[in-house]
Amino acid sequence: MTTTVGSFPKPDYLVKARSDFASGKISQEELTQLEKKATEECIRLQEEIGLDILVDGEMERGDMVTFFAEKMRGFGISGLVRSYGNRYYRKPVVISEVRREKPITVQMFEYAQSLTEKPVKGIVTGPYTICSWSFDEYYPDRRGCVMALAKEMHKEVVDLEGAGARYIQIDEPAIFTRPDEIDLAIEAMKIVTEGIEAKTISHICYGDFAVMYPRILDLAVDQLDLEFANSDFANLEIFRQPKFTKEIAIGVLDVHSHIVEKKDEVKANIRKALGVFPVESVYIDPDCGLKTRTPDEAEAKLRVMVEAVKEVREELGVE
Ligand SMILES: [Zn+2]
Repeated sequence: MTTTVGSFPKPDYLVKARSDFASGKISQEELTQLEKKATEECIRLQEEIGLDILVDGEMERGDMVTFFAEKMRGFGISGLVRSYGNRYYRKPVVISEVRREKPITVQMFEYAQSLTEKPVKGIVTGPYTICSWSFDEYYPDRRGCVMALAKEMHKEVVDLEGAGARYIQIDEPAIFTRPDEIDLAIEAMKIVTEGIEAKTISHICYGDFAVMYPRILDLAVDQLDLEFANSDFANLEIFRQPKFTKEIAIGVLDVHSHIVEKKDEVKANIRKALGVFPVESVYIDPDCGLKTRTPDEAEAKLRVMVEAVKEVREELGVE
């Protein structure tokens, strides 16, 4: 099965519309119309390429944490914070009890799912990552903040399932940034996915798997979605021992590189991965969201990926 991690590049007209909206030149309604147009184009593209599990492309989202913080009660936004070098950005700040007052991602999920017969993934940012990438000026400790967010994100996941999502992904890229807090991330995930019957997935990236394996198997999800292409599949050996116990989505496209992968190279990597993970538990996708690539690069990379999977399937004689 082929899928993607979540974000697609935004078309130029939407990039412009987002900046026009920020400076008050267009209304929320006009922006939403263009987000829906971009979502429909994104769904059509994925169908045409032949992906199995689709995404809405996250056309209404900017930063994966700020998007949720802005839509919940309890958050403010900081002044400019310096990140790498001379880049500045604004970071969410927890200033009072966090509360999700209404569904955040459900409307766009429903719209995207209404456009296609194929399953569309519901995708949310996990509580551990939202807390880690925000300032907390309210809760006495990180545990308080993460657990409060876990309860709120659980409501979002329940609503996505209620809206028909058969696959729900909880992104937790921050897990790898503090290996000493893995217990907290595991405890939070249990709350987020409690009672959910849809297939649950966690996408984790940026990390050294060796430090976190096998503890990440304790995350309460059915599938882990990890990056491999970026490290040239050097990580693969870690997962032989102890045995991997979940489904795995294997990143075969390096989203940080503008170079389009060669089909034969992707096929070789898939075969290498199938030497470690049983074929029935394997999904193939890019390492991470595609929003940093140009639309042309994203499309070309995905075509190579889908073609590679198709050929490996044929060669192995599997469905
Ligand atoms: Zn990622």
